[in-house]
Order: sequence, then structure tokens, then C-alpha cells
Amino acid sequence: MASERRDHNVQVAQASRLGNVRYDIRGPVLRRARQLEAAGHEILKLNLGNPAPFGLDAPDDVLSDVVKHVSDSQGYSDARGIQSARDAVAQFFDRRGVTGVSPEHVFLGNGVSELIVMSLQALLDPGDEVLVPSPDYPLWTGAINLCGGSAVHYRCDEQNDWNPDLEHLASKITDRTRAMVIINPNNPTGAVYSREILLGMLDLARTHRLLVLTDEIYDQILYDGAVHNSAAALAPDLLVLTLGGLSKTYRLAGFRSGWLVISGPREHATDYLDGLELLANMRLCPNVPAQHAIEPALGGKVDITHLLEPGGRLRDQRDFAWQRMTAIPGVTCYQPAGALYLFPRLDPEVYPIRDDEQMMIDLLEQQYLLLSHGSGFNLPTTDHLRMVFLATVPVLDDAIGRLARFLSGYRQ
Ligand code: PLP
Repeated sequence: MASERRDHNVQVAQASRLGNVRYDIRGPVLRRARQLEAAGHEILKLNLGNPAPFGLDAPDDVLSDVVKHVSDSQGYSDARGIQSARDAVAQFFDRRGVTGVSPEHVFLGNGVSELIVMSLQALLDPGDEVLVPSPDYPLWTGAINLCGGSAVHYRCDEQNDWNPDLEHLASKITDRTRAMVIINPNNPTGAVYSREILLGMLDLARTHRLLVLTDEIYDQILYDGAVHNSAAALAPDLLVLTLGGLSKTYRLAGFRSGWLVISGPREHATDYLDGLELLANMRLCPNVPAQHAIEPALGGKVDITHLLEPGGRLRDQRDFAWQRMTAIPGVTCYQPAGALYLFPRLDPEVYPIRDDEQMMIDLLEQQYLLLSHGSGFNLPTTDHLRMVFLATVPVLDDAIGRLARFLSGYRQ
């Protein structure tokens, strides 16, 4: 009887195309954290750029607009998204100097995450190469590989405020290169790229006829007067896909709502854009209630300067975390000009780390603190980690204290 039952059990293996897809920042370290939680331990989690659990809520005005529209949100919307939200996105881009964007060039999605995958699915054939920063937000590399392409990493230079190294970028371009990914402001480094560097990157894209995919989800989270330049505004002559969304500035990560804006000359890309439309149609539409947050969010009901100026929560937390982190012997860190993360370096002379993922597991087990390992962001070395500074100052103090205690005795 038992053997008969076994005969019906089919071996279910994952698709071979997943063999090359990594998303380690949610891999073994997170699994170990869940096990420790299940065993009753409380884990201090500074591994995710998710504002809500840290008490950073969306403005009431935005939420009340969504509530008002819940009953009109029962049906599917246009596959690209509701008109009022696409209008609001097009106007927002116009105000930011990106010309010629109309609502028909705006696709809404269930977060930037969905739109990243869609934009690459529509583009890539096996063997196609896409330039991606190292370190990167690893969904980009994972999604390129998932779509059969090949992620080719260009170096960002810690000595130059983590700006991309243009020479290295140029050296990575081949006749298989289809697109260049820009993540600015950057996760995990917090870099906000200089105008000159961006112009240099766009020049390479122009010369080599590359599609530009620019992830600007942190475009308004800037410190100390840093200026964000939108790639689409700097290069109106190039086809640029700009991605953004409600998860960070607007503190609505759980709404899963984002946009993809197509700017520049579109005539030579109608085939690709038809493919994008096909994929948008196939998923019917993005979540409709969440789309109702876009118009109030982009239309002026959200101003986050109070969080970013001296005395504001994000600014004070960044300053505190950076000072406390860089006071640990052997730890240096670029002071982030944007976004929500510190990406410190542990001097390999002081901390010879062979396996930084294992280090994160050891940190969890010894201090019940959850951070992310640098190589999980496609950095080729094992000497960095990422910490989110969304938590309040006392919590950051506790966390960095735990890290310092851990490091003082840690050797691999
Ligand atoms: N892009 C970057 C650079 C991110 O850091 C994140 C989330 O941390 C995302 C995209 C995902 O955004 P969404 O919540 O809109 O899917």
C-alpha cells in the first residue's frame, strides 16, 4: 500500500532557469532568523527598507483618498492603470523636467518589482547582456537572469562616493549588450550620482545604442542638499524607462504600487513597447485600490522635507547611525547622500571575513540582530554589510552596540 502511494509521488523540481537566479538578501540568513523567532527569540531587524514597521506612516490625506475610492475599485482597471493616476505620474515627470511624457507612456504596476521583471521579460533573449551596477539592488540581477539574459556588473567606486566607474562601465560593453541599468539614488550604497557621471553614463548608452533602465525609487530621499538628476531629463534624445513608486518616499510599501515611464524617441522601439503592453495585458491590471494613492501622493499632499532636514527623523537617524558605525574600530562608511541605508566596510586587515553570509548568521545567533551581507548585493568582495537606518535613534544605538560587541570578538 505504502509503495503504491509512493508511486504516485512525483518529484517536483524547480525550473532550470531558476538555477542562475539569486536573491540572497532574503535567503539563508532570513531563514535562520525565522527559526530563531520560532524558538522564541526576539530579533532586531534592520534588513529591509520598509518604512511602516518603524512608525513612518503615509500621510492621512493620501490614505483617506484611497478609502474614499475603495468602492470604485472593485473591477479591473485599464491594464496600464487608472487614468487619474497615470495623469498624475505624467504631470509629475513634466514638473521634473522630463518632457513629452503623456499618460499613455505610463504603466502602473504592483510595485517597481513587478515592473522591473516586465521590462526585462519584454526585452531579453538568451545571451543578451545588461549592464548592472555592483553593488546593486539584487532584484535587477536576479530578474535579468530569470529572463534568460546575462547581468554584467560595472564597478561603483567607494573612493569616489560610490559613483559608477565610467572606464570600467565602458570596458564591459560588448555587441551583446542591450541595456544599462542605473540605480540612483542607490540601494545599498546611498550614493546620489553626480551630474557629470550620469552624463558620462548616458553618453555611453547613446554611443552604443543601449536602452536605459533607471530605478529612481529614492529620488526624493536626499540629505545635505544633494541634488538628484533624473536620467530621462538629462537625455531627452534617448529611450529611457524610469521606474518609481509609492514604497519609500510615500511610505506605502505594502500597497505594492509603482510606475514605469517611457520617455524619449519611441519610434524605433514600437516592437519592444508592444511587448511591454502584451505583458501588462496578461496580468490584467495592477491592484486598483492602491492606484488611488498615486494622485494624492504625487499631486502635492506629500512633502517629506520635515523628515530630511536637520531635526527630521531620517536625517537624524542617518547622522546618528553613521557616527556610531564609523566609531567602531576597523569600520569605515560613506555617508549616504540619499536613500535609507548604511553600507559600511569592515577592514579586511582587522576582520578577515571569508564568508559574509555566514557572518550575518553568526551575528544573528550571537546578538539577535538581522542585517544584510554585502555580497548579497552582487559585490565581489565579502567586506561590507548593509544596515537600514529607518529605526529610531535608541534602536539604532542598541543595534550598532550589538554589532560592535559582535565584531570585537569575531574572527572567521
Ligand atoms: N528598487 C530599489 C532600488 C529598491 O531599493 C526597492 C526596494 O527596496 C525596490 C526597487 C522595490 O520597490 P517596490 O516596493 O516598488 O517593489
